[in-house]
Amino acid sequence: MDTFIKNFASSVGNVVTVRGWLHNKRSSGAIIFLEIRDGSGFVQAIVAKQHVAPLVWEAAEQLTQESSLELTGTVSPHPKHAQLYELQVSSLIPIQIAEEYPIAKKEHGPDFLMDYRHLWLRSKRQWAILRLRDVIETAMHDYMHRELFIRTDSPIFTPNACEGTTTLFPVEYFDEGTAYLAQTGQLYIEAAIASVGRCYDFGPVFRNEKSKTKRHLAEFWMMDAEAAFVEHDENLRLQEGLVKFIVSSCMERCQEEFKLLERNPEPLRAIVEKPFTRLSYDETILRLRELGSDIKDGEDLGNDDEARLTKESDVPIFVEKWPKAIKSFYMKVDGIRPDRVLNADLIATEGAGEIIGGSQREENIDILLERIRHEGLPEKEYAWYLDTRRFGAVPHSGFGIGLERMVRWMAGVEHIRECIPFPRTITRLRP
Ligand code: ATP
Repeated sequence: MDTFIKNFASSVGNVVTVRGWLHNKRSSGAIIFLEIRDGSGFVQAIVAKQHVAPLVWEAAEQLTQESSLELTGTVSPHPKHAQLYELQVSSLIPIQIAEEYPIAKKEHGPDFLMDYRHLWLRSKRQWAILRLRDVIETAMHDYMHRELFIRTDSPIFTPNACEGTTTLFPVEYFDEGTAYLAQTGQLYIEAAIASVGRCYDFGPVFRNEKSKTKRHLAEFWMMDAEAAFVEHDENLRLQEGLVKFIVSSCMERCQEEFKLLERNPEPLRAIVEKPFTRLSYDETILRLRELGSDIKDGEDLGNDDEARLTKESDVPIFVEKWPKAIKSFYMKVDGIRPDRVLNADLIATEGAGEIIGGSQREENIDILLERIRHEGLPEKEYAWYLDTRRFGAVPHSGFGIGLERMVRWMAGVEHIRECIPFPRTITRLRP
């Protein structure tokens, strides 16, 4: 019977066939131990010379690392580890004998590994990250639907920048002149809420930033969410609920991945169980100065500031109500302090930095128009967007969450380039 390694628990004693790749091989005299990977998991397959036909033994001897193969054998419990299984091989068919594999067991530098990203993905660590990424992505979709959001995707070719053109990638677009790759779908889903009430998009976005940090990609996946009749506090509640849901999904489904990544899941418990902290921008600046930062009033938080802020905190921190002067034109002005806007950035724990940026949006057309003019943005390009405020404007809010930032945090990996299958950074376009 064909099966997957993941299902071995229910196949003990059965003769099964698996197809996959040789991850590793060692032998001790009359036994060859083959570590097999089939995508769903890893298993040790045992070829005992005295129990297999000579042809099977020869085939096992010839196998090189990463050769593809089909194996048939009996599933048995691992003699030492509960919940682990082995395959007692009876027959083996090589599909392709691999050439000498360039990624050896010795340590390689990150550039070498990135050049071989297409092969590096086969390592246990990368396998674990890919699976964690899938669990996070699935949790995002599940949570949004549970909160009655509808997926409503946005275009990638856009004629105008949401917040100016400095961080956009231009492309030639037929006879229409220059188009830009989207850096967010926010304006489009703001339009869609008048149709479906609550919606989100999910897809690649592009930032032409020269920043060479461990948390910036030039192409990353973002979920933008937008909801009608949701104001600032409710916006934060939705974000907190989403993050708690993602973290608990990872804890439930990724224990094996955490182990492979040597990621201690203990600190994640508090994130699910305790309420997140909320600090105003002003409180944040004061606290940062107490913690030794030289940040000035009105400045954005740097990487170090974000790490400092959450160092002693076991839950993420919302930094809310930022100065209007350094935030986007569409953010709604705080009714109590007109120099502040009703926004928040969510700063994750364990030094992971910002994972969400969100705000209540300005629904008043006159204020919005004034802010577009004040920022010198091309008013004509926003005519369609302003229509959303002309025909049934409602209070509404939204946020954007970066998938790879979330993966980086959950996996506990240092560099974001490992959190997407084929990263695009300022210095990397290949493979
Ligand atoms: P940062 O200040 O960290 O550069 P930002 O303020 O530009 O981020 P937003 O425009 O609010 O970020 O984007 C929403 C979310 O998208 C961020 O909270 C983060 O999770 C993610 N994000 C933003 N820029 C990048 C990037 N270059 N690479 C990966 N993820 C990103």
